[in-house]
Amino acid sequence: MSYDKGNIFAKILRGEIPCKKIHEDQYALAFEDTAPAAPVHILVIPKGEYTSFDDFATNATSEFLHGFFASVRAIAAKLGLNENGYRLITNHGADASQSVPHFHVHILGGRKLGALLP
Ligand code: AMP
Repeated sequence: MSYDKGNIFAKILRGEIPCKKIHEDQYALAFEDTAPAAPVHILVIPKGEYTSFDDFATNATSEFLHGFFASVRAIAAKLGLNENGYRLITNHGADASQSVPHFHVHILGGRKLGALLP
């Protein structure tokens, strides 16, 4: 799948539409999900054109892969989620119901999250 520069997270990265930003560094931008599924629900997106985890893991440099996931960890720590725990989700493709074609990691926490799938 080729990258669609018109997707909503691309627009957020370019500053064309607003987001509730909670963190930004050279690798990643993190902001609140507009439809939170838990008391804490943050999306972390890479600063690059990757359609999904599969694209990112295949095509990003080792330095970018490490930097991005280090940012995800730092954001979870900054949110105070380390002690009680949190869940990371990333959806790739149709069976996972990926709805935005820019790679993103959901950070979910703030309550007991229960079973992996409903
Ligand atoms: P996924 O289904 O994994 O592709 O997740 C996409 C997520 O993006 C959903 O949880 C949406 O609620 C969220 N979302 C869509 N548009 C926005 C937006 N403009 N700002 C923040 N979150 C959004």
